[in-house]
Amino acid sequence: MKGGNKMATPMTATQIVAQLKKWGISYKEVKDWDTHNRNAKGDWGPLNGFIWHHTGADVSQANAASYAASTLYNGLSTLPGPLCHFGLAPDGTVYLVGWGRANHAGGGDPVVLNHVINEDYSGQLKPTRGNANGTDGNAHFYGVEIMYSGSHAMTDAQYKTALKLSAAILDFHKWTEKSVIAHGEWSNDKWDPGYASGKIMDMTKVRSAIADTVKAGPKPAPKPTVPTVPKPTTPTVPATGTHKVVIGDTLYGIANKYKVTVENLKVWNALKSDELTIGQILKVKAPVVTPPKPALTVQQQLDALVKRVAALEAKVK
Ligand SMILES: [Zn+2]
Repeated sequence: MKGGNKMATPMTATQIVAQLKKWGISYKEVKDWDTHNRNAKGDWGPLNGFIWHHTGADVSQANAASYAASTLYNGLSTLPGPLCHFGLAPDGTVYLVGWGRANHAGGGDPVVLNHVINEDYSGQLKPTRGNANGTDGNAHFYGVEIMYSGSHAMTDAQYKTALKLSAAILDFHKWTEKSVIAHGEWSNDKWDPGYASGKIMDMTKVRSAIADTVKAGPKPAPKPTVPTVPKPTTPTVPATGTHKVVIGDTLYGIANKYKVTVENLKVWNALKSDELTIGQILKVKAPVVTPPKPALTVQQQLDALVKRVAALEAKVK
C-alpha cells in the first residue's frame, strides 16, 4: 500500500496551484476552472494516480488557449467537460481546465487500479478491460490532456512539463512514479499517449524519467538578481594613491588589488578594526616621507664654511 495515502483525499485547487508554483511549472487558469467539474455525477476520490493522455489532434500553440477554453473545458456533445484537469500546450504551458471529477479516464481495468494503488508492478501495464466494461477511472485519477495527435512525439517542452507535473502530484501525495500511468495502460481500447500512429509510449522509460525528476527536486527558486557593482576593467592605482570604498569592498580585497598588505592599509590609515564605510577614502600606498637631512658633522660644517669663504674670495678678486 502507498505510505499512508491509500485513501488519498484529492488536492484542493489551492493546493495544486501551490504545487505548480513549487515545481516551477507555468500555468494559465481557464475561466472558473477551480469549481468546474462533474462532482454532481459521481465520485471524486479517493485519488490513486495520474493518467497521461494525448488529445488525438494536433493543436497549434496559437490555438492552445482557445482549445483549452472550448473543447477541454466544455467537452463534446457526447462527452461533457471538463475533459481533464490539465491541458498541456505545445510550449509546455499547463492550462487549468477543471478541478474535481472530469471525463478523462472512462472505464478501465480494476486489476490495473489495484496495481497502481499498491504500486506493486513492473514494466508496461496491459489492461484487459476498457471503456465499455471497465471500472470508473474518473473517481480515481488526475488527468492531463497533452495537446498533440499521438501519431508523433510530443514536443520537448510538453514532455519536460509532463514529467514535472507528475513529480508535483507525486510529491504532494508521497506516491512513487508507479502512480503515473498512460491511458493506454488503463483501458484496452486506448493507446495514448502515443509516439507513432497507434503506438503507446514506453511508460517504463517515462516512469524512470519521472523518478529522476522527483529525485532532482523542485526547480530551485530563480536567483534574485543582485545589482552588481561594475568592476573597473583595469584596477589601476589612482594617481592620488587613494581608494574610495564601495559596496562589497573588504580590507583584504583592497590590499590584494593594490598589491599591499592588510597591515599596510591599517597602518597608513590608522584603522583600529577591519570595518570599512562606504565612501571612505583609504590611502593605498605608502605615504611619501621626506627623509630628514642628516645632521652635518663639525668637520663637514667647517669644510662647507671653507668652500663658501673660498667662493667669496674668488668673487672679490
Ligand atoms: Zn485518453
